[in-house]
Amino acid sequence: MSSIRVLSVASEIYPIIKTGGLADVAGALPGALKQEGVEAQTLIPGYPAVMEAIERADQLLEWPLYFGGVTRLLKAVCGGLDLLVLDAPHLFGRPGNPYVSSDGADWPDNGVRFAALSRMAADIGVGDVPAFVPDIVHVHDWQAALAPAYLHYSHRRRAGTVITVHNLAYQGKFPRDILGEIGLPPESFTMQGVEYYGEIGFLKAGLQFADRITTVSPTYAQEIQSDAGGMGLGGLLHARARDVTGILNGIDISVWNPAADPDIPAPFDVADLAGRATAKLELQRRFGLEPRSQAMLLGVISRISWQKGLDLLLECLPAILGEDIQLALLGSGDPDLQDRFQAAAQAHPARVGVMIGYDEALAHLIQAGSDALVVPSRFEPCGLTQLCALRYGSIPIVSRVGGLEDTVLDARESDTPTGFKFGPVTTDNLAQAIRQAAAAFADRPRWGTMQANAMATDVSWSGRARRYADLYREVAKSR
Ligand code: ADP
Repeated sequence: MSSIRVLSVASEIYPIIKTGGLADVAGALPGALKQEGVEAQTLIPGYPAVMEAIERADQLLEWPLYFGGVTRLLKAVCGGLDLLVLDAPHLFGRPGNPYVSSDGADWPDNGVRFAALSRMAADIGVGDVPAFVPDIVHVHDWQAALAPAYLHYSHRRRAGTVITVHNLAYQGKFPRDILGEIGLPPESFTMQGVEYYGEIGFLKAGLQFADRITTVSPTYAQEIQSDAGGMGLGGLLHARARDVTGILNGIDISVWNPAADPDIPAPFDVADLAGRATAKLELQRRFGLEPRSQAMLLGVISRISWQKGLDLLLECLPAILGEDIQLALLGSGDPDLQDRFQAAAQAHPARVGVMIGYDEALAHLIQAGSDALVVPSRFEPCGLTQLCALRYGSIPIVSRVGGLEDTVLDARESDTPTGFKFGPVTTDNLAQAIRQAAAAFADRPRWGTMQANAMATDVSWSGRARRYADLYREVAKSR
C-alpha cells in the first residue's frame, strides 16, 4: 500500500476548539487514516485557543502581507495533534467562538477570514510549501470550501481535491464586492464559478470545483440531492451525483469508552452494566431529579436549534410526563427554546432537569446514566451523539433522517434492534416512539438485549477511515 499525503483543512478541531461534530471529525480522522497508510496534516486557523495550546512549533513561512496583515505558517504540535497553523492575528486573534463575536453576531469579515484559510490550503496544494506537498487537499465545510476554486483558477499543477459537507445548512455566502480582496479573478463570478444567487458562495464553489464530494452518511447524500433537502444546492449536487459519496462518521472510541472514562463514576462494559446504575443516580442527583431507578431517564445533548427538533420534545412533554419518564437535557442555542426548557424544569423539578451550556464531562455522564438518548432532528447529516449513546448502552430514540436513519436499527424492523426511529418528524410520532421505548424499558430482558446490540455496534473510525483512504487513492490515480 503506497503512502499518500493529504492536507485536511478545517475551521475547528477537537480537543482544541469545537462548536460541533465537525471538530470531532477533524480531530479523529487523521489519526485513523494513519492506519490506512495516509499521512494527513491538518491546517487550522491560529485562534487564541490554538496558539495557547501549541507545545512546540517551527515557522515554515512568513508573509509581510497576507489578506491584510503579517501571517505565518507554523508546523506545530498542539493538543497532542500535528498541525499546520495559519497564524494571522489580524484575522484569527479573537477569543471565543470561531465565527461569532461575544454579542453573538457573525464577524463581519468572515468572508475574508475563511477565504484566507482556503487560500493557504490552495497555496499548499500547488506545492508552495515545500515542507508538505500533498497529493490531496481535503476541505471540510464552507470555511475551507474556496480552496478547490483557488486551485482551479491557479491554472497550475495541483493536488486532487475532496470536499466533505458536514452540514449543508451552513453555506458561507458573502457579497460579491469582496471578490478582488480575496484574490479571485473577475471571470470566476459566473454560474459555473463561485457565483451563488448574486453573491459569492463558498460552499457552492467547493461543490463546483472539488474532484469528489463526500458527506457524512449515505442517506444524507441522497437527501441533499433533492429540492427539499438541497437547500438551494440540490440541483448542483444532483448534477454531480456520480461524484457524491456518503461515508458515515465514526467516534473516537478511546475518548468515548465506558470501560475507562474519567468523567463517569464507575466503569462498565457490555458484560457488566452495573456502572450504568451508579451513573444514573449521579445524573439524577446532578439534575435534581428524583433518584428512582424505575423511571426511564431520557438524555439530550445538543445544540438547541430548529434543526435539532427539540421544540417537538417540549411539545410532547405533557404527554410523556404522564408516564414514569424523566428528562435530563444539556445544551445551548436558541434563547427562546432555552427559556421554555428552563420553565419546564421549574414546573416539574423532579422530572425535568435542564442545564444550559456546553460541558464535555457532563455529556459523558449523560451518555452513561441515561436510559435512552433522544435525537428528534428535522435533518441530521450524520449525528454523533447517537453513536456515543450506542457505545454507552443508552438506547437512541431518533428521527428517521440522514445519519440517524443509517446508524440506528429500529425495534420493529430489525432482528438486532438498537433503538427506536420515528418519521415523519412530528410531535405525535416522537411521543409515540418515546412510549414504545418506555414499554420496552419495562421489559428488562428485552431492554438488556437492545443494550447489548447497541454496544456491539461498530461506531469506530476504522472502517470509515478506509473508505476515505480508498477515495483519496482513486482521486490521486485519476489525475
Ligand atoms: P452538530 O455537529 O450538528 O452539533 P453532532 O451530533 O454531529 O451535532 O455533534 C455534536 C457534538 O457536540 C457531539 O460530540 C456532542 O456530544 C457535542 N455537544 C453538543 N452539545 C453539547 C453540550 N451542550 N455540551 C457538551 N457537548 C455537546
